[in-house]
Formats: sequence, structure tokens, C-alpha cells
Amino acid sequence: MSKIPVGISTCLLGGEVRHDGGHKHSRYCTQVLSRYFDFRSICPELEAGLGVPRPAIHLREVDDGLKLVEVKGGEDHTAAVHAFIDQVMPALGDLRGYILMAKSPSCGMERIKVHNADGNVTRRDGRGMFAEALIREYPLMPVEEEGRLNDDQLRENFIERVFAYDDWMQNVAGDRLTPQALIEFHTRHKFQLLAHSEKIYRQLGPMLGDLKSEPLVDIAGRYIHRFMAAMTQRVSRGSHVNAMQHLMGYLRDVLEDEERRVLLEQIDAYHRGEVPLIVPMTLLRMAQRREPIDYLSRQHYLSPYPDDLGLRNRI
Ligand code: SF4
Repeated sequence: MSKIPVGISTCLLGGEVRHDGGHKHSRYCTQVLSRYFDFRSICPELEAGLGVPRPAIHLREVDDGLKLVEVKGGEDHTAAVHAFIDQVMPALGDLRGYILMAKSPSCGMERIKVHNADGNVTRRDGRGMFAEALIREYPLMPVEEEGRLNDDQLRENFIERVFAYDDWMQNVAGDRLTPQALIEFHTRHKFQLLAHSEKIYRQLGPMLGDLKSEPLVDIAGRYIHRFMAAMTQRVSRGSHVNAMQHLMGYLRDVLEDEERRVLLEQIDAYHRGEVPLIVPMTLLRMAQRREPIDYLSRQHYLSPYPDDLGLRNRI
């Protein structure tokens, strides 16, 4: 399997590029995710020419907008960072996801402090200048802060989205778009959609009902925006239970009575929080593997990412 291209803040890979010459090495990124992600690192401040070490900078809101200025002295680096962003952004369209360093006025995704001309904090809901441009330019791309990957559900959600978006980019996007490619993508991800958002799941099927009513590229554009919005939603235990029960329906003729009883027991135990998702999911996969149902073997819900990431052992 070729690795998936994913962007990352350079300091998270251990690059000594922070303003004080330090780094923010993430072992989870370099030792676990790097098995599947081909990381492309960017340090916007360094690559905009600010150097290492460099004076600390922060976001400052003045009459003509947000600026990146030195905390002490107030020298303005906005133009240099903007010029770098304009130059690098078009080259990031092939990335399937991005992991950003938190709290940075350049890379931070959320809750970044914004200051006034006197240097006082006026709000804490800012976004780093590079992160803002990235999310505006590539609204479909899964983007997450490294710190948030410590949360089991957020980590699982981000990685699942990266793999789903990679499937879209590899098999449907651009000149690979055909009615068949679009329908097959939808079919592969039906149970994931059902788990993430039953509401959007029920909207997307009819959207693909008549692919001749307007240009396919328009339908596909609307589809993938709704799809990625659904995938961003957290999956509750109840939603996983609902999806697994739907899946069991397809295995009706495959499951022995005893097997069905054990599976229902384990789904209930998962619902009560007594066992992780991997337990009922493994039973479903074993039944499916023994007597494969073609429709289910195409469902990414059963294996949305490599097992050795261990993500379903924790939710
Ligand atoms: S947070 Fe971003 S700008 Fe700051 S050191 Fe890391 S990569 Fe560079």
C-alpha cells in the first residue's frame, strides 16, 4: 500500500524550527502515523524567511485587518507570511489531510489569542494565518491539531476521514469522475455514513438517484461536501450499534443461532461501554469472512483504516 500524502507542521516532526530553536516532536506522528502517512512538512514562519531563532510573534487585529507582528517591538511580518502562503498553497491540493501545531499564530487551528494595538488580548477565537488559508482553500481536507489527536474519538475520526478522502481523491476526483465511480464510492461508504449521520446518509442516496439531471461534476461537488461534513460528526455508541445491527441484517443467513446470540450480547456490551468497538466488529468480520456477502466485502465500515493503528480498541 502506498503511503497517503499528509501535511504537517515541521516542528511536530522534530524539526528545530520554533522561534526559540526548539521543536514539538510528536512520537505518535513519527512512529505510528508515519507507517501510513507520507508526511510533507511546512514551517510557514521559517519558510517565509523569519529565520531560527526569531522573535516571538502573535496575531494583532488593527484597522486594516489581522497582522502577524513581533510581540516585542511590533515589527510586522504579515506580508512575508502572506507571500509564502500564496506561493505554497496551490501545491497542497494533493494532500489528504493536515496535522497542525496548536497555539501558534501561524499554524494553530482554533482558540488562538488575538491582540489589540497595545498588545492586550481581545479575543481567543482566532486561527493561525497559515491554518486559516489552508482551511479556506481546501475545505474538504481533514485538518486537525496534534494535541487533539490525544482524544481517542477525535483521533479515530481524523484518521477515518483521511482514509475516506484518500479514496475520493484516488478513485473519484478530477478526471476519474464517472457515474460508476461516484456510485461505487457511495456504496463503499454507506455504513460509515449511516454511523456518522443518518440524516445526511438519507440525503445522499437520493442525490445520486438521477445523475443526468445536471452536470455530473456539480452533483459530485455537492455530494463530497455533504459526505465530508457527515464524516466530521462524531459517532455515538448508539449510532455504531444502529450501523452494526443493519450490517447483521445482511448476515442473516450466514449467522448460526449461537453466533447471533453472542454477537447481539457483544453489541449490547459495547453499547453499555463494557467492551470496545473492536469486539463486536471482529465478530461481524469473522462471520463475513467465513461466508462473504459481496455487498459487505465492499463496505469500508468494517475496515476503515489499518487494524494495527488500534483505533477501535479504544472506542
Ligand atoms: S507551529 Fe508552525 S510556524 Fe511554528 S514552528 Fe511549528 S511549523 Fe513553524
